[in-house]
Amino acid sequence: MILCKGEMGGQDMFRIAIGGFSHETHTFLDKRTEVEDFYAREVQYGDRVIEDNRRVRNYIQGFIEVLEEADAEMIGTVNASAGVHGYVTAEAFEKFTGDMVNALDGVSNLDGVLLALHGAMASEEYDRAEAEVVRRVRAAVGDNIPIMVTLDLHANEDHELTDVADAVFVCKEYPHTDTKETGMAAARCMLAVLTGEFRPAMAIHKPGIISPSVFQATDVSPMKDFRARADGWEEQEPTIEYISIAAGFGYADVPDAGASVIVVANDDRELAATVAQDLSSYMWQRREELARKPILKTKEAVLEAMRLVEEGVRPVVLADGSDRTGDSTHVLRELLRQDAEGFALSSMNDPDAVRICERAGLARDVKLEIGGWGQASGEPLYVEGTVEYLGDGQYVLTGPMGTGGNVNCGPSAVLNLGRDRYVVLTSINHQVRDDQGFRAFGLDPDSLGILLIRSRVHFRAYYDDTAGAIVEVDAPGMGPADLSVLRFEKVPPDVFPVGRNWSQ
Ligand SMILES: [Zn+2]
Repeated sequence: MILCKGEMGGQDMFRIAIGGFSHETHTFLDKRTEVEDFYAREVQYGDRVIEDNRRVRNYIQGFIEVLEEADAEMIGTVNASAGVHGYVTAEAFEKFTGDMVNALDGVSNLDGVLLALHGAMASEEYDRAEAEVVRRVRAAVGDNIPIMVTLDLHANEDHELTDVADAVFVCKEYPHTDTKETGMAAARCMLAVLTGEFRPAMAIHKPGIISPSVFQATDVSPMKDFRARADGWEEQEPTIEYISIAAGFGYADVPDAGASVIVVANDDRELAATVAQDLSSYMWQRREELARKPILKTKEAVLEAMRLVEEGVRPVVLADGSDRTGDSTHVLRELLRQDAEGFALSSMNDPDAVRICERAGLARDVKLEIGGWGQASGEPLYVEGTVEYLGDGQYVLTGPMGTGGNVNCGPSAVLNLGRDRYVVLTSINHQVRDDQGFRAFGLDPDSLGILLIRSRVHFRAYYDDTAGAIVEVDAPGMGPADLSVLRFEKVPPDVFPVGRNWSQ
């Protein structure tokens, strides 16, 4: 294993460029991801790439910590990420990739490039968008400059990326609590290459499994067992530096969709290939667990949540994993239909409803329709309530995931529907990761029985330890636990369980 090096033994100061371009593209959503969607989430240039990420637990913070310790010089280029939408427009892809290449063109005596990418970006022009980003960066810096890439665990990648990058590091945890450590691993590897101690040899193998996010939590089998086997290889073989198990992003109809194993070894491509093949075969044996598992449907899940509260269990987190646009009305409608009390939904993504509340003003009664504008989100829901809160929807994460990171929900409101029933309305899609997802809107989650949220696994970083119970719900939506309801066309025919050869 490469250890962190405090001194570089008489070397000149290394100059490392840092950049990021990240999107998890849901190719089944009609709305494209445009330049302004990146600005609504996160865009930094130059020194801001370093300064803004220094305090946020993420991949770039990991780069910074290792490089500063080694007295390397860091050059910020561009860092951009956007929320969940459909294909990244050609314009947005060209803009941020172009900005990154331009920034790199101006750097003299560059020693290496560290990129924080996602792995599940697809643009109007490129299904394998990350491979194209790295190809362009490669063209800008030349063949002799190492390029190392970090990816999200939901990466859909194949050899096109590993052919052009020198080393690839996927975060190992879902919820993604180890993004900083992943960045540190990449930065350490970069320094070891520059000092001549390490020659990266990489292998990638795809088991051929597309899996919904809800089955990919890494402290639960089968992902837990895949990781244990990978850790065994890392311990047993000192030349193996890092083993990535990307579970893949299931809501992407792209040719490189599905899980992958990526192994980085020191100058031993053969061993890397053996290990990647071994883990890939093991995952294939466990494909049913990774791709298919029954989850309660809406009505049953709401009944179960209410039963638990009745028994004194609280709070019960009701996790709607299939809503990808934040405006689904299915579960909220069912809670009202079953006459549940003492619950809050965080949140309903509906800028028009927020504006109606703003116009009415605090403490005023409103009658309006909320949600239900997205694909498969259900009909808009008519509600009557009181405007309990109005705000800018900005808050800071305090739980174990993304600690210190800013969340921007846009202008927001809280509707009080009476009998301790609350709905947070936001102008941007919002995924609750910790209790700030309620407290930031003036709600006290400790006083409520049911917390309805839109999340698959990330909320578990906080709620596994603090919730009385978690009830997952497979409501209708664009992120179903049952992938067979989506129509895949570009994926390989033999990929399990949605390729042509399986779905007949
Ligand atoms: Zn992810």
